Amino acid sequence: MAEVSLKHVYKVYPNGTKAVSDFNMHIRDKEFIVFVGPSGCGKSTTLRMIAGLEDVSAGELKIGDLTVNDVEPKDRDIAMVFQNYALYPHMTVYENIAFGLRLKKLPKDEIHKRVVSAAEILGITEYLGKKPKEMSGGQRQRVALGRALVREPKVMLLDEPLSNLDAKLRTQMRAEISKLHQKLQTTFIYVTHDQVEAMTMGTRIVVMKNGFVQQIDTPKNLYNYPANKFVAGFIGTPQMNFFGGTLLKTGDEVTIDFGAAGAKITVPYAMLYKAQPKFLNGKTPVCIGIRAEDITLAPDGAAEGKTLIKVAVSHKEELGNETLVYGNINVGGDVYGENGSIIFKYSGGRDIQAGDVVKVSFNLDRLHLFDEETERSVLPRIPEYNYLECTVKEGKLTALGGEFDLPGAVKCPDGDYDLLVPTDAITFGKGVKAQTESCEDINGARLAALNIGGKRVYAVNDGCAEGAAVSVGFDFKKITLMSDGETVVSPMPDKNAIDCKFVKRKIVENEEVNGKTVRRKTVRFGFEIEGEFFGVSDAVSQKIFAALGIKNSLSSSLRLECGADGLTVCENGVAATAEETLDYGAEKFLKCRVGEREVFVATDKEYSGAVRVLPDFGKVGLVETTRDIKII
Ligand code: ADP
Repeated sequence: MAEVSLKHVYKVYPNGTKAVSDFNMHIRDKEFIVFVGPSGCGKSTTLRMIAGLEDVSAGELKIGDLTVNDVEPKDRDIAMVFQNYALYPHMTVYENIAFGLRLKKLPKDEIHKRVVSAAEILGITEYLGKKPKEMSGGQRQRVALGRALVREPKVMLLDEPLSNLDAKLRTQMRAEISKLHQKLQTTFIYVTHDQVEAMTMGTRIVVMKNGFVQQIDTPKNLYNYPANKFVAGFIGTPQMNFFGGTLLKTGDEVTIDFGAAGAKITVPYAMLYKAQPKFLNGKTPVCIGIRAEDITLAPDGAAEGKTLIKVAVSHKEELGNETLVYGNINVGGDVYGENGSIIFKYSGGRDIQAGDVVKVSFNLDRLHLFDEETERSVLPRIPEYNYLECTVKEGKLTALGGEFDLPGAVKCPDGDYDLLVPTDAITFGKGVKAQTESCEDINGARLAALNIGGKRVYAVNDGCAEGAAVSVGFDFKKITLMSDGETVVSPMPDKNAIDCKFVKRKIVENEEVNGKTVRRKTVRFGFEIEGEFFGVSDAVSQKIFAALGIKNSLSSSLRLECGADGLTVCENGVAATAEETLDYGAEKFLKCRVGEREVFVATDKEYSGAVRVLPDFGKVGLVETTRDIKII
């Protein structure tokens, strides 16, 4: 039994194909994880890296407590089942299952015990004496599973194991593999391009596209809260309906305009609290998504309301228990056209015919909205910012009905501003009175919906409790103030970047031996920053060599990354110029320049002019800039 963790894992093939980019995931013991996505998205490559059949180009791969980047496949405690089950035709089922254990030279009685037990679990005991050619495809795949099982692996890896089987057998084997997982209580990682397989088997699913992870979540959350249009379209059949349109907020209502398709509905603004204001201006293009099962046929004589949409029916598919109705919401236009096309499910008794114009309503709780440009959800489960208004006057900021002392670091002329406060920059303790309306645990973070004088504010805070009265303030180093679309106050960057190279230096050191001075030449590896050398520990060097290879390590352009607390002002540091001290009240930072870059150092001392700042090389992140790969 084991956990598997992937940290900033990349795969770049020798021909330059970047098959996997920055894969990060912690797979818990006993999980059934499915990697899903269209062909070529990098799911097999990721699985093969875990198996050890492909080298990891960069990043850290752990099985249990062991970093396995350079551990041989056979020593990884994994077993893999492939699409092509490749049984030995001349051997019996028993011999096929026992083969790997014989190679490992396990005692005969131990082999026998394991083979018999695996055959029982898989229901193939009666076939143990048969040859593979006497068995069906499903039975052969079971033998392949048996061959993996007897190795008693910590992690089972399965690469499209069912895609050679016909549809009926696939459904049956799907259930059997799920049962097997229950029985074995082992970590399973399963690759498939089939979203139904993913949804029915996975405890969590990783949706991938073009080498990038799109979303990692439970099947239910992927279906209910797709993070982007790709995931929304990939999960669920029939595919989610998508329409181009805009959103316009007027008072407490928002009009959803389906653009060229002609339809419009009006919804309460409360539904769109999480949306950025720029999406509600009636201009920014959005993609409106709704699933076929979230559309309801309205009664024949339903009065035109704010939420009814007309659909011209083009055709239908009877599925027995329900009907799939195809049509177009552009009732005056081409009923078969792409623009405005819609599919909805219907299971009532009314007879709908091609050519009819019917009215439908959307289940508004299940409406999805995406940014047409980035395809990201307009209603993310954890919104990035709260969009507030504020007034600054004589060093005080008034917002949400309260007055806050502006710390010295926030400098701006008196006036009215748009105030952007990240959800993790709402502080609890002092400030304006707020009521916690609801709390939600979302993928490890706790989101509070606060009511502050009638205004909705979201805060990520582990300590929130539903119904609690709290006082809230702002973490001023994270806020943005804008006036007429221009940024007047920027947040302090949460990451410093420093350009460097990894270099080798010959160092001559004097050593006292028996009262004599001996000159000793050694080679040290370290970073060259602004022309100066900074030696690093062997552990750091090893990580860089492992990620880039020895030759490439010494010629690559690199970027060090660290937070303000990863730098200290120190005599043996990198030459820098102190520019100003930023006073955020409880925290103070020194803003200084290293080469072309501005960096921020956590310190409560005042400095000016030439200083030296030293990164904590044991803790920094490191990016290879040419291929944009995080290597530490
Ligand atoms: P999937 O399993 O999602 O279908 P793969 O992981 O097999 O995708 O492939 C991801 C990408 O890497 C694809 O663009 C594929 O063409 C490329 N690729 C796979 N194997 C190699 C290889 N040995 N050399 C170069 N490119 C490869």
